[in-house]
Order: sequence, then structure tokens, then C-alpha cells
Amino acid sequence: MNKVVADLLKERYPDAVRSIQLSEWTTWQVGGPAISIVVSSTGMLSDLLGVLRQEGIQWFLIGRGSNILASDDGCSSIIIRLAGDLATVRWEHSGSRWKLSCGGGTRFPSMSGVACSKGASGLTFAIGIPGTVGGAVFMNAGAYGSSIKDILTEVDVVDSDGNERVIRNTECDFSYRSSRFQKEALIVTGAMFLLNKADPAVLRSEAKRILQLRREKFPLEYPNAGSVFRKPFEGPPPGKLIEDSGLKGRAVGGAMVSEKHANFIVNTGHASSYDILELVNVVREEVMKMSGILLKEEIRYLGRRG
Ligand SMILES: Cc1cc2nc3c(=O)[nH]c(=O)nc-3n(C[C@H](O)[C@H](O)[C@H](O)COP(=O)(O)OP(=O)(O)OC[C@H]3O[C@@H](n4cnc5c(N)ncnc54)[C@H](O)[C@@H]3O)c2cc1C
Repeated sequence: MNKVVADLLKERYPDAVRSIQLSEWTTWQVGGPAISIVVSSTGMLSDLLGVLRQEGIQWFLIGRGSNILASDDGCSSIIIRLAGDLATVRWEHSGSRWKLSCGGGTRFPSMSGVACSKGASGLTFAIGIPGTVGGAVFMNAGAYGSSIKDILTEVDVVDSDGNERVIRNTECDFSYRSSRFQKEALIVTGAMFLLNKADPAVLRSEAKRILQLRREKFPLEYPNAGSVFRKPFEGPPPGKLIEDSGLKGRAVGGAMVSEKHANFIVNTGHASSYDILELVNVVREEVMKMSGILLKEEIRYLGRRG
């Protein structure tokens, strides 16, 4: 982005715009410089999108950066993050159920924790998924046989022209780690859920069990971005294919295929985005050679690739 536009944004939104390193905004802890803007209301978001469109500037909506490989060269798109009114949560009783309305920037695992304490069932699966509600809708995030599509009633979105709309669950085109939002430039600003009432003690104990399982299974001691590859339509899961290809422990620079879970690539200290990218390519090629199966990435890319 050129300096004139950066200055224009700083002037219009003085407290919200800043220069960042994407490594601080992604769980892999890689990524170079960018200009970010923290947006705290739909009004501000609509206004911003209008300015960006007028100036011909591209944008990228980031949640917690827990599914993103950001380039060390940084990116010229403006990085938008939701906060303030767009990260709040409202609980209401709705007959025998809970109605939960939350902003797209709300942290998914903390919402899950609160749901357990309140006795609202259906969100326990989300307890260890370190993203935002918007990111979870975009990815149709899930675990242990459940995903966000099972409990979501509708989402509030803002389109790239700044118009607000409501999209019902059935219009979200959800499938395995996929949604309509991966094909259309729509920002998820809010989401509504209907949750059954349940015993908080039972939910808390289930959440504890899930967290324990995740600690045992995943290499949480290193920066990572969760599963790198999606499950193929048929055949064994990616972790098994990668392990059977003898790739556990394979490293490129500071990036390594986890010894604990082969579908995780971990940053062992000083990985560059290019180390990770090269390792992703090595894994894809080796698995193809060994099994004839082409693995596709679950992670999303931000900035230049290669
Ligand atoms: C340790 C670990 C464990 C994980 N376990 C799981 C798991 O069990 N199950 C699972 O499904 N995932 C898992 N993930 C992956 C990741 O947490 C999820 O995909 C999560 O939903 C991403 O949310 P985010 O806010 O971090 O999105 P980001 O990584 O910031 O963004 C991902 C994509 O979503 C888009 N996006 C983000 N917010 C919005 C919004 N408000 N509106 C429109 N688009 C948006 C971004 O533009 C980007 O394209 C794991 C990741 C880690 C690091």
C-alpha cells in the first residue's frame, strides 16, 4: 500500500490503524510487515470498505490467524480485525433453549468455555479451537464429529460494498471445512446460535476431557496452525498418509513435520514462511508418490507465495 493511502487511513481512523508484523498476528508466528486496522462497529466497517474501494486497495480479514500462512514479505492488502462491538456476546433465554448472539471477532474457545459454565450444550467441541467466530464460520471449523454448522442459525455479514445482510444457515453452503464465505467476499460480523440447556457440570467435564485429549494429541508446545491438509474424500486421514510416507520429523529450516501429529507442521524456533511453504510442498509430493493421493491444504495463504 502506498504511503499516501496509509496516511489517509491514519487520518480517518487515528486510533485504529497501525503498522504490524504479521508474525505477531498468526499462531505460526511467521509473516512480515502490513498495515492493520481494528474495526469496532459495522458502521465503521462499511465506511472503511467504501474508502478502500474508492482508493482501489485490497483487504484481508484476519481472525486470530490460527489457520494462516502469512508471507515473510508481508502483504500490501490492509489487514482488518474485528473488535469492540464486533467481539461482544449476548445470552438470552429462548424457551427451553439459550439464544446466543456474538460478534464475528469473538474468541471461539472462550465462548465455548462460557457456554459450558452456563449450561448451554452444542459448543463444547470448540473448546480448543483457537480462532474467532468469524474464522470458524468461514472454515466451518469443527472437531469430534461436530462443527459450527450444527448449531448456527444465521450470520450477519457485510459485503465488499459495505452493505449489511443476514444469511441463514441453509444459505451458507457448509460442507467439510468449507463454506460460502470462501467463495464470496463477505465479512462475518455476527453469528446467532440456538443451544439446548444442559447440566453445566456434565459440559465442563466433557470440555476438560476434550482439552486433555488435544494436549495429548497435538504439538501445542510449538507455534503451529492446526491441521495443514484437509481430509481427502476417501482413504486414510492426512496424518496417517504423512506418517506412512516416513515424514514425521522431516524439517526444512525451522519448520518440521510434528513427531506427535504428522498433519501439523511446527515452527521449532526460527522458521520462515518459505521454510513452511517448502515443507508443505515436500509433504504433498512425497504423499503423492507413496499413495497416489493429492493432499489439499486446509490452511489459507496471505501475501506472496514463493
Ligand atoms: C492448535 C490448533 C488447533 C486447531 N484445531 C482445529 C480443530 O480442531 N478444528 C478446526 O476446524 N480447526 C482447527 N484449527 C484451525 C483454526 O483454529 C480454525 O480454522 C479457526 O476457525 C480459524 O479461525 P481464525 O479466527 O484464527 O481465522 P484466521 O486463521 O484468522 O482466518 C482463516 C480464514 O478465515 C477468514 N476469516 C476470519 N475471520 C473472518 C470473518 N469474520 N469473516 C469472514 N472471513 C473471516 C480469513 O480471511 C481467512 O481466510 C486449529 C488451529 C490451531 C493453531
